Amino acid sequence: MASEKIEIALPDGTVMEVPRGSTPRDVAERIGPGLARAALAAEVDGETVDLDRPIQADASLRILTKRDEDSLEVLRHSAAHVLATAVRELDPSARIGFGPPIDEGFYYDFGVERPFTPQDLEAIEEKMKEVVEADHTFQRQVVSKEEARELFSDDPLKLERLEEFDDDEVISVYRDGPFLDLCRGPHIPSTGEVKHFKLLSAAGAYWRGDERREMLQRIYGTAFFSEKELQEHLERLEEAGKRDHRVLGKELGLFTVDSRVGPGLILWEPSGSVIRREIEDYEQELILRHGYEIVYSPHVVSEELFEISGHLENFAENMFGAMEVEGRRYRPKPMNCPGHICIYQANQRSYRDLPIRYAEFGTVYRYERSGVLHGMLRVRGFTQDDAHVFCTEEQVPEEIERLLELVAEMLATFGYPYTIALATRPEKALGSEAQWARAEADLRAVLDERGLEYDVDEGGGAFYGPKLDFQLIDAIGRKWQGPTVQLDFNLPERFGLEYIGEDNERHRPVMLHRVLVGSMERFIGGLIEHYAGAFPLWLAPEQVRIFPVSEQWTESAHEVAEMLRAAGLRAETFDRETLGYRIREAETMKVPYMGVVGEREAGDGTVAVRKRGRGKKQEVMGREDFVKRLREEVERRALE
Ligand SMILES: [Zn+2]
Ligand SMILES: [Zn+2]
Repeated sequence: MASEKIEIALPDGTVMEVPRGSTPRDVAERIGPGLARAALAAEVDGETVDLDRPIQADASLRILTKRDEDSLEVLRHSAAHVLATAVRELDPSARIGFGPPIDEGFYYDFGVERPFTPQDLEAIEEKMKEVVEADHTFQRQVVSKEEARELFSDDPLKLERLEEFDDDEVISVYRDGPFLDLCRGPHIPSTGEVKHFKLLSAAGAYWRGDERREMLQRIYGTAFFSEKELQEHLERLEEAGKRDHRVLGKELGLFTVDSRVGPGLILWEPSGSVIRREIEDYEQELILRHGYEIVYSPHVVSEELFEISGHLENFAENMFGAMEVEGRRYRPKPMNCPGHICIYQANQRSYRDLPIRYAEFGTVYRYERSGVLHGMLRVRGFTQDDAHVFCTEEQVPEEIERLLELVAEMLATFGYPYTIALATRPEKALGSEAQWARAEADLRAVLDERGLEYDVDEGGGAFYGPKLDFQLIDAIGRKWQGPTVQLDFNLPERFGLEYIGEDNERHRPVMLHRVLVGSMERFIGGLIEHYAGAFPLWLAPEQVRIFPVSEQWTESAHEVAEMLRAAGLRAETFDRETLGYRIREAETMKVPYMGVVGEREAGDGTVAVRKRGRGKKQEVMGREDFVKRLREEVERRALE
């Protein structure tokens, strides 16, 4: 009936009346031909949908063009279909898994006879260009489960997925030219819109991330709306590749893994250990200055502790299995908090003792699937620079202030700018609303007073308390997880924490969990990439390397190195091969300073100094001055 109208609310506040069953494309056309041409998808009542999806009831609608961030995901997912279309054209027997958009692109998993080679990727990319050229429209069709079973009868992966749908769920399939996929959508109107894309790599990936299932072959790619953005992204990837901590970690001899030790368990080589020890020494000095006390707790503890803490109930799948000793079950600890709580409870505490701040470089073990392990960034054993503050509710603002100072000082030392996010009360939360409101207001007040900018992650807090999250921004603009401070109303309750107040009554303290570097492994993995392996002098495993110009000055070179070592600097001599080779080698190993000793330098007690990355520029200086200069640079923990 012609009177069947629905109301569409547009972003500018106007309301448009259209016939029931109109599509977002119809609406775009009524707004203007320019918008209709630019339209790629639409957001209807907050859900991203195809332009041709009929709207059956009053709704709010926003037309998405390439200027909207959400469109990029739609483009990339559509590019994944183009990829699958091309793979199927080249190999009709290829079975198809999932093809989602991801952070910086997309992937698609295939069940094929053998892994894809770089040549395969080139051929697939060529075929994708044909699919784009053909400009197939993405056609959506709703089918019954029975119909879907028939459509995908030759693809066991899709059939398995299909069986998981509820009976009343809408099952949609999408066709672009010859290719049909079981997919929820949405997609851009046609394959012709996928103009700027690149396939990046291929890797094995277990079906559904489960190592007991079949190994599929995953192809990664990316797509953008403009060639410029694509090229910039590829340049960033190249730069990131050069900084890969796994490659540099091996070249510079910083860390290793060994299958006999087990995946995700890091072995620190001497050079990597120097970096870690310097950071630990620095942080220890820093936190002692900020009023912390150092504690130690065991690595393996009775399971009972995790029953009380609730980890066994809520975190068991991330814990290593139990071992039995004298009939009691023990676990490697996944967190340090329960141990610190027991130290708190070893004595009766009075309000005069608070705040109590316990810190530990605590090594924890967590189960992660082997498929997600990644160098030093995602591991199964790691050392947290963990601390727990026990204080009264009134003391929380001051503790947060202290923490902000700590964070600012520490991150400046490493040369990281950072952002702050405040995560607030989720729907399901423990503790009273008043308690949450007070805690959140405290956090905001401290941030506001300091004039710090921060984002609010509404409802993003843990169920047991609000949190501040700091993100580090590295040298090439990538974000890394940084310090966090988490208020906890839960564990003090579960463990029955108490202190005796001024009124002689028992009170419950508030507990704060905080880390600065977080995981030592992840932090140093990140630092390797941040500095591209060229560590500032105070962290460099080898700080200075001394070469003789020729053999007759070897003795003199050793004297200089000895002098540097006596001043506490990490100095080596190197007299193999030619001088040119020695210098190149030191550059490869990213040694911050080189000192060359020849006839002149041996004669007048000087050294010719070169600095990393400055090419042939050298400066002849007195040996004492050289030592002094390096000492001073180390003490300041100067960045490059
Ligand atoms: Zn799709
Ligand atoms: Zn904790």
